[in-house]
Amino acid sequence: MSDYILLTPGPLTTSQAVKETMLNDWSTWDVDYNETTQWIRRELLRIAHVSEEDYTAVLIQGSGSYGIESVINTGITAEDTILVLENGAYGRRMAQMAKGYGINTLELTFAEDQPVDANQVAAFLELHPEVTHLGMVHLETTTGILNPVSEVLVDAHERGIETIVDAMSSFGGMPIDVAAWNPSYLVSSANKAIQGVPGFAFVIAKREVLNQHSTTARSLSLDLYDQNHEMDTHNGKWRFTSPTHVVYAFAKALEELRAEGGVAARYARYANNQQKLERGMHALGFKTILADDVQSPIITSYMFPTADFDFQRFYDYLKAKRFVIYPGKVSKLPTFRLGNIGEIYDADIDELLTAIAGYDILPIPVLADFKTITD
Ligand SMILES: *Cc1c(COP(=O)(O)O)cnc(C)c1O
Repeated sequence: MSDYILLTPGPLTTSQAVKETMLNDWSTWDVDYNETTQWIRRELLRIAHVSEEDYTAVLIQGSGSYGIESVINTGITAEDTILVLENGAYGRRMAQMAKGYGINTLELTFAEDQPVDANQVAAFLELHPEVTHLGMVHLETTTGILNPVSEVLVDAHERGIETIVDAMSSFGGMPIDVAAWNPSYLVSSANKAIQGVPGFAFVIAKREVLNQHSTTARSLSLDLYDQNHEMDTHNGKWRFTSPTHVVYAFAKALEELRAEGGVAARYARYANNQQKLERGMHALGFKTILADDVQSPIITSYMFPTADFDFQRFYDYLKAKRFVIYPGKVSKLPTFRLGNIGEIYDADIDELLTAIAGYDILPIPVLADFKTITD
């Protein structure tokens, strides 16, 4: 039994079997381990609906941000220009990384409660023919909003622009036809919707694009080309010490994803969790901040119910009842977040809602109906 139910979008609540996989001393220098890595790489491509000829799945040590940074480090030169689309913290982080490598970085910013607008992106690109790369976040975990990746990428592709999609919190938990999106790179990590534990990121990279960049990287550890080359030519061998326990746990989590019925079944469970939780929260007087058509089934932002709401007190109260919730990240609004991914089921949502209903300061909405944030 887990001590806590994590309502956070990774690390999240994992299964008993995933945890038990780690009760072992696993070696890196081992053929079974390398083969497990290869199986994971193939399985990720299968889930992504892409072929092994067109794409490669590269695993890289570190959290999700290391995966994004490895792409920027390896795939973009100082002569290139990247446009980053931002409606939250993770888009901003991608831009910050690009600037750190001295790459010409353009930012197109949208309000945090609004999805990226593909028409505005197209108009911007029309005025900026110097753009060679475009980076965007599919599910901006800052709020839980979904961005229209497909629309933006179709246009970028027609303009010959390379694309980087941060699908960190959606990949494995929402059906994504990566072949249809046709990105140059799509990045996610072990501790999100596949329900593993933290320790590595993975990049689904277009082979012909990655192979053009054997010498672009400025950093050795985050050289995605080298990492892929080592894995391809040495049957799944990682460069440097890898998180063996995390890798075995991830393989177990992928088996469990299959057993659950694949991504479609997991998506249905997450969507049910999210809708049930949101209905229950509305009934208790809490307000969400996003329109229904852009609200993801992964994580939901709720407004503080009163002007003097004490988040820490609420957090401690729920933690004592085993539920660990997540602070808000919206710049201009007092919010907290409830994630509903991981080993979370109907009964957990019921228990959570009962716990929240029992909080002694029952939320009495006093704030005016939420309006669009204007910058
Ligand atoms: C979790 C997450 C990341 C990566 O964050 P890390 O803390 O580095 O794992 C990046 N983008 C999005 C959208 C995320 O949800």
